[in-house]
Amino acid sequence: MEILLVEDNPDHFEIIKSALVGFDYGVAKVVHAKSLDDAKEQILSSDYDVILFDLSLPDSTIQETVDFLTHLNIDAPIVVLSSLNDLGIAKELLRNQIQDYIPKDEISPSFLNRVCTYAIERKLQQVKLEQRNKDMQAFCSMLSHDFKGSVRRIGHIASFLQEDLQERIELTDKESKFFQSIQRNTTSIQSMVDSLHEYLTVSYTSLTFEKIDTNELLESIEYDLKENQEKPFDLTSNAELVSLYGHRSLLTHMLLNLFNNSIKYNDSKPDINFSISEVAGNRLEITIKDNGIGIEEKFHKDIFKPFRRLFSQEEYTGTGLGLSIVKRIVELHKGKIKVTSKPGAGTTFIITLPNAG
Ligand code: ADP
Repeated sequence: MEILLVEDNPDHFEIIKSALVGFDYGVAKVVHAKSLDDAKEQILSSDYDVILFDLSLPDSTIQETVDFLTHLNIDAPIVVLSSLNDLGIAKELLRNQIQDYIPKDEISPSFLNRVCTYAIERKLQQVKLEQRNKDMQAFCSMLSHDFKGSVRRIGHIASFLQEDLQERIELTDKESKFFQSIQRNTTSIQSMVDSLHEYLTVSYTSLTFEKIDTNELLESIEYDLKENQEKPFDLTSNAELVSLYGHRSLLTHMLLNLFNNSIKYNDSKPDINFSISEVAGNRLEITIKDNGIGIEEKFHKDIFKPFRRLFSQEEYTGTGLGLSIVKRIVELHKGKIKVTSKPGAGTTFIITLPNAG
């Protein structure tokens, strides 16, 4: 076990070093770095099992040390020891993969032992999780490129085959239906792959939030729906639409998904009402209300789960991922979504978001 202790104060160094005696993993060696430059050199020269880092160093300000640590991409767990009890700095460090932040005056052998043990275990889990995320992203891009490409080619080959055959013979109704079925199924696989890719990657979208004029947003969504929906529908909204603060394309996607469902799960002319208003607790409430077929109460939680569908493809087509993606988008905006609905009485989705505007 090799520990790097970055600490410029010799007294503190001795206290911390002696607190490391009896360490669960058995301390082989404690290497001492007295400055940030010294620490950089040590980190490059060896793979430490744990790095204990003091924030006040002679050759850097606290912010410079924090910046250095938050951009450091190494496998060793880092525990920050500080005389400062600054919650802001602690949060910034913990959000950026630093394993722990402990005030120096709390150090005792048993405490330090526990902190280092947890830091090592947490880091191991984190490295495993990062590897799994990388694998998943590789799988996602394989899925969306190669797999979809092959399915698209099957569709093309089937339509060439159909054209060739039609030049020579007259296809029976049954044969034509087979070809239609191939096209329907290849399209359905492609849209399933698109939705799955989106569901798996939406959390990795880099989030740039901006102030969004809701009237403008709604206009562009209505335009998009009219271009792509075969079914006529009415879309109304409340008079005063307050602005939103969020990720424009994700929010557009979220509303398109909800509006498309309001149109799809509807056996009469869809009538959708959109409203957004400020509510107590400095939050915004968005409601999307439709006059569709409604949803039984026992399914209200289930519909947000991936692949949960209440109907067969023959009744209403879909992938069962739309609402799970909507939920992820809402959560990326630190919001919540719920549904109120009864069969035959329409459905209302209620989204609350922080009013950050
Ligand atoms: P999909 O529409 O692809 O099946 P979703 O995740 O968007 O998947 O929706 C999950 C299920 O919730 C749908 O299969 C449908 O049964 C139900 N649902 C969603 N929106 C509505 C709505 N506006 N009205 C009635 N049922 C709905």
